[in-house]
Amino acid sequence: MDAEIISVGNELVLGQITNTNAAYLADKLTQLDLTATYQTTVDDDCSRLERVINHALTRSQLVFICGGLGPTTDDITMPTVARTMGTGLQTDQQHWRWIQEKFKQRQIAMEPENIRQAQYLAGGEPLANPVGLALGCWYETNGKVIAVLPGPPAEFKAMVDKSLLPKLQSHYQTGKQIVSRTLNFLGRPESQLMDEIEAATANVKSVVITSYVQPTAIQVRLTVHDLPAEVAQQRIDQAQAAILQVEEPYFFGLGDDLSLAKVVVELLRERQLKLTAAESLTGGMFQSTICSVPGASNVFNGGFVTYAASVKENLLDIPATLINQYGVVSSETAAAMSEGCRKKLNADIGIGFTGVAGPDSLEGQPAGTVWIGLAIKGRPTITRQLHLAPYIGRQAIRILSVQYGLQMIYH
Ligand code: ATP
Ligand code: MG
Repeated sequence: MDAEIISVGNELVLGQITNTNAAYLADKLTQLDLTATYQTTVDDDCSRLERVINHALTRSQLVFICGGLGPTTDDITMPTVARTMGTGLQTDQQHWRWIQEKFKQRQIAMEPENIRQAQYLAGGEPLANPVGLALGCWYETNGKVIAVLPGPPAEFKAMVDKSLLPKLQSHYQTGKQIVSRTLNFLGRPESQLMDEIEAATANVKSVVITSYVQPTAIQVRLTVHDLPAEVAQQRIDQAQAAILQVEEPYFFGLGDDLSLAKVVVELLRERQLKLTAAESLTGGMFQSTICSVPGASNVFNGGFVTYAASVKENLLDIPATLINQYGVVSSETAAAMSEGCRKKLNADIGIGFTGVAGPDSLEGQPAGTVWIGLAIKGRPTITRQLHLAPYIGRQAIRILSVQYGLQMIYH
């Protein structure tokens, strides 16, 4: 089955935004054993889009057209697809009334063009948009399927997951099964992790293992094609057990959308522990990451951003002599920061971050040198040094520092 993704948008062809929608959809299709063998990007131009659609229909059974469903004049996708298919547009009256009601509620003036967001291809079916206004469309013609989807990534993902994938699953009942599971790791270079995983799973049959590097984790996906679901699950269990025998220290959970912050918040909530932080190079990023998890208030009351040495001294009661003796970027300062913040807020766990985000070195230490202190009530304070590569840049050094801090709490 040949599938093809057409992404529409000036910003895409100009290189102003990255085409994350096509990557998202391609990955979901792969999990259904439908591969997007062709992917095309075209600007917001009716005649070029028409040519691209016609070309796609000569070689693919399944064509996804993504972006350009808004009400403005540059959003040409739905009428252009209609013209190319020799059909018209029809209005979903119920959805149109719903859009009008939304505008009234938000007290925003309505433009006549907004009706376009309630229109889809005549003879097709609307695809519901669970988080936005514009409808998508599913259209069948001569044994081929065209699906039209919106551009904004949140709307795109919601429509793919909630409207498109169920439709695809029921339309292409091939009898084939794909079972997959995603394992999340942190703290091992991808090539090393994958070499070790390959060796560990040499005796496990039929499991395809792929890896994806995310900013905050390495995801390893185990996939089994074409086996009865129960057997597939067994094979995946077997592969997971073999992998964790070797990689357990770097593993933090299952799932495509898992974050280490979520895992840590959940863990501390279960154990009824309160966490606080004192941050220098991360400048609040650790606390912000914790707060991005729903339910963070169960485990986090507040904390400190202590960038300058004087603020570390004043807010955390760290003696100036300690910082002078050991330096700001030191195990001693990280330990004192973690203990200081823990005591100040009477928390169970205090974590301190100090280091060199770069690009310049500090106190003779290169960018990427980071010390993290972890003070847990009733236990000796521990510290860990990171030597992150300076070339990954200031932002990546800060993000990884936060993730390694979370990993210290988790383990
Ligand atoms: P809107 O009503 O917001 O205009 P739309 O369906 O017309 O929705 P587009 O105009 O194509 O969507 O895109 C809206 C925004 O969504 C773009 O400016 C861009 O930020 C984002 N976007 C569009 N396509 C993609 C894509 N393929 N990958 C990532 N982001 C995208
Ligand atoms: Mg638009």
